[in-house]
Amino acid sequence: MTDSFDCIVVGAGIVGLAHALAAHRAGLRTAVLDRDARAAGASIRNFGFVTVTGQQEGITWRRARRSRDVWAELAGPAGIAIHQRGLSMVARRPEALAVLEEFADSAMGDGCRVLRGAELAEHGEGFRQGLAGALWSPHELRVESRYAVGQLTQWLAAQGVRFLPRTVVLGVESGRVTTASGVLRADHVVVCPGTDLVTLYPEVIARRQVTLCKLHMLRVADPGFTLNAAIMSDLGLVRYLGYANCPSLPALRAVLEDEQSEWLADGIHLIAVQGADGSLVVGDSHHYADTHDPFQPRAVDDRILAELSATLAIDAPEVTERWIGVYPSGPDVAFMEAPAPGVRLVMVTSGTGASTSFALAEETLADLLNLAPPPHA
Ligand SMILES: Cc1cc2nc3c(=O)[nH]c(=O)nc-3n(C[C@H](O)[C@H](O)[C@H](O)COP(=O)(O)OP(=O)(O)OC[C@H]3O[C@@H](n4cnc5c(N)ncnc54)[C@H](O)[C@@H]3O)c2cc1C
Repeated sequence: MTDSFDCIVVGAGIVGLAHALAAHRAGLRTAVLDRDARAAGASIRNFGFVTVTGQQEGITWRRARRSRDVWAELAGPAGIAIHQRGLSMVARRPEALAVLEEFADSAMGDGCRVLRGAELAEHGEGFRQGLAGALWSPHELRVESRYAVGQLTQWLAAQGVRFLPRTVVLGVESGRVTTASGVLRADHVVVCPGTDLVTLYPEVIARRQVTLCKLHMLRVADPGFTLNAAIMSDLGLVRYLGYANCPSLPALRAVLEDEQSEWLADGIHLIAVQGADGSLVVGDSHHYADTHDPFQPRAVDDRILAELSATLAIDAPEVTERWIGVYPSGPDVAFMEAPAPGVRLVMVTSGTGASTSFALAEETLADLLNLAPPPHA
C-alpha cells in the first residue's frame, strides 16, 4: 500500500469524521484510517444529543452552538434524521428549580424559558406529576448516532473522502503514517484516537492525565407518549459545568447528597431521548479507570431507571437493550496538540464529542493551515 494525500485523519469516530469534513471543505485530498471495519466506539454508543445549554461557559458553549449548526446543515444532504429539538431540563425539586431560574437569568440562559408546576403538563407529554418545573431550551438537537455516524461516513465518501477501514496506524511522523499494511504520506495528519491511549503519542496523552470513563446505557421500549425534547433532571445540574456558577447549586448538591448519594457515587445523571420508533435511549453513569472491567452491574441500571420513572410517567420501563460506552476523560474538556510539524493530536476528553467536534475540527484545520481562527473561536 503506497499512496499520498493532502491530509490523513486517524480514527473514524465523530472527532475524526468532523476533521475529515473540515479538511475536505478546505480543499484537501483527505483519507480517513480506522483499525475497525466501521466505527464502533463512543461515537455510535452515545445519545446523539447535541447539547448546548449546560455546556461550560466560553469556548465549549460556543463550539456546541457552531457544531449544532453544522449537524443541521449536514442533515439534509447526508440523509441524517433529526429526531428531537430542544431540551426540557426538569427540576424534580424546588432547589433544582432555583438553580434553573438563576441560569435562565444569566447570559447563558439566552433563549431559554422557565416552566413552573402545571406549565410543564401544558408544555409536553410524559412528565411525572408533582415536578417543580423545568427549563426549556430550544438550542439542542438529537440524532440517532448508531445510524448518523454511518450516514455521515457514506456521505463524506461520496464527496471524495477516501476511507481505509481495517487499517491500524502504528506510528505517525511529519508527512508519514505507518500502518500495519504499509506507509502512507500526507502533508497534514490529524490523529483522533478516541479511547486508544497507548498506541500514538502516549506521552502526550499521559501528560494530559487522560483516563477512561465507562457509562451504562439502556434502550427503553416506547412509553406510549411523545417527548417533544430531550429530558434531563436534577442530577444533571451538578454534573454539567454550565450550571456551576449558579448561586443555588451548593444547596441542591446538599439535598442530592442527602437523598441520592448512591446515584452521585455512580456518577448518574438522567438523559432520555426518543427515536423514530418511540423507544428511548436512557442513561447514564460515570466510572473512571485506566482499564475497565466489562461488567454492567444491574444496581447501576436500576438507579438510572428509578430516576427515569421519577421524572417521566413510566412506572415499569421495559428495557430492550443494554450497552457500555467508554470515552477518554481528563482535566481538559478537549485538547489539540502539535506533537510534530504538520501533525495534530485531537481528543475530546469529556462527554461532549457529538456536541463540539465540528467546531473543534474547524479550529484544528485553521491551525494546521495557518489560517485565521474560525468565527466561533
Ligand atoms: C455512552 C456515551 C454517551 C455519550 N453521550 C454523548 C452525547 O449525547 N452528546 C455528546 O456530545 N457526547 C456524548 N458522548 C461523548 C462522545 O460520544 C465522544 O466524545 C465522542 O464519540 C468521541 O469521538 P472519537 O472520535 O474521539 O472516539 P471514537 O468514537 O471512539 O472513535 C475513535 C476511533 O479511532 C480509531 N483508532 C484509534 N486508534 C487507532 C489507530 N492507532 N489506528 C487506527 N484506528 C484507530 C478507533 O478504532 C475508533 O474507531 C457520549 C459518550 C458515551 C460513551
